[in-house]
Amino acid sequence: MISNSSIQVKIGNLRLGSGLPLIVQSMTNTDTANIPATLQQVRQLVLSGCQMIRLTVPSLREVECLRQIKEALRSEGIDNPLIADVHFNPKVAEECAKIVEKVRVNPGNYVDKRNFQQLDLTDTEYQESLEKMALRAKPLLQICKEHGTAIRIGTNHGSLCDRIVSRYGNTPLAMAMSAMEWVHICQQYDFHNVVLSMKSSNAQTMVEATRLLADKMQAEGTVFPLHLGVTEAGAGDEGRVKSAVGIGALLLAGIGNTIRVSLTEPPENEIPFAQLLTTVPNEKQNVNVQVENGILHLTYHQEDYYTWMATVAAMAGFEHFTRPIKDLIIDNQYFTKDQNQRLADMILQACRVKFSQTEFISCPSCGRTQYDIQSVLQMVKERFAGYPNLKIGVMGCIVNGPGEMADADFGIVGATHGKVSVYLGKQRVTPPLPVDEALRIMESLIQLKIKN
Ligand code: SF4
Repeated sequence: MISNSSIQVKIGNLRLGSGLPLIVQSMTNTDTANIPATLQQVRQLVLSGCQMIRLTVPSLREVECLRQIKEALRSEGIDNPLIADVHFNPKVAEECAKIVEKVRVNPGNYVDKRNFQQLDLTDTEYQESLEKMALRAKPLLQICKEHGTAIRIGTNHGSLCDRIVSRYGNTPLAMAMSAMEWVHICQQYDFHNVVLSMKSSNAQTMVEATRLLADKMQAEGTVFPLHLGVTEAGAGDEGRVKSAVGIGALLLAGIGNTIRVSLTEPPENEIPFAQLLTTVPNEKQNVNVQVENGILHLTYHQEDYYTWMATVAAMAGFEHFTRPIKDLIIDNQYFTKDQNQRLADMILQACRVKFSQTEFISCPSCGRTQYDIQSVLQMVKERFAGYPNLKIGVMGCIVNGPGEMADADFGIVGATHGKVSVYLGKQRVTPPLPVDEALRIMESLIQLKIKN
């Protein structure tokens, strides 16, 4: 499947699909009800080159704020399309669809729920669930049609519903099937202004799910544009490498129409690296690729650190997800042997081929976050680095955090008023606590696991 084969959709003053340029997007992490702070962040994103901006709208309270934010931006001449991030509240989605250019819904929780229970539904019961979901989606799709609003069907690996997981497992196939159910509902109501995404903190899962979805749409004759992103990628070089491995692998396969690099950093930091990723399909001609006995050797003499990182990580991701590699050797004369090795280690970890350090899974945060996740992630990374067999999640909120950090061994998840709870796997083991106290408890749990 190539991106040129997708239909075009209109999102405000932008169009996606059919060989059009890739669009770079991001999301605010302010409380949407804090209008001045959110406006300031949107302005900053626009200055950085962000083309579409998503804002969290968790409840009806923020819908009115969204309206005011949009009016203020338009009065300043900022006409970038705005996207409401809604997830699971149909009433909020319907109201947002009257205001902004695109609404993101999550097929895993818009109607169904995830209680981590096995549901043994008969085919008739399964069909009834689909009909219920179609009825619930109908008003939203009608409003979108009336207002020219687009929809993103945003499937997340960590928030698939019990119905889907019980039938297809917690797999890339389940993600693709979950999205296809919504595709069919949109088509049933003759609604085609649709974008889809398949996100996971595991780049391999994200790539597999997106490829499966693209193939399924192709087989059915209508390919909608695809939004690419590795969610909860983390921060710093590791977060950028993980994003490049997943997003880049798909871009090199000709898949994808809009991208978001999710980092636990100020959102405007995402834009320069996302823009670099859009250049990878052209840059690849400057890289020498050799594979021998499963060892991938990439030679690319590039002076710019981030161009090097984006291109090499994308190409390694593409090679690995096409034909699994066992090891990676990188050669760039402009950097030291240690720097070449460090990048290779980060890529191998992002591909889950070799683990050389603790795996940190952290969300970019959004308006639902009520603690300073960026500083806390830094503290967690300093305190718990060097455990190659450990995955630690640092998540912004209880609504999506526990599900989204999926396979982490330990985690901290934001609660209210600057406090966080400690998780052992998916199980919450403490009430909301001040960060210092939570980190002490997590440290003792980790020590206990290591001793055993
Ligand atoms: S886990 Fe919660 S805070 Fe983090 S990005 Fe998702 S919804 Fe926002």
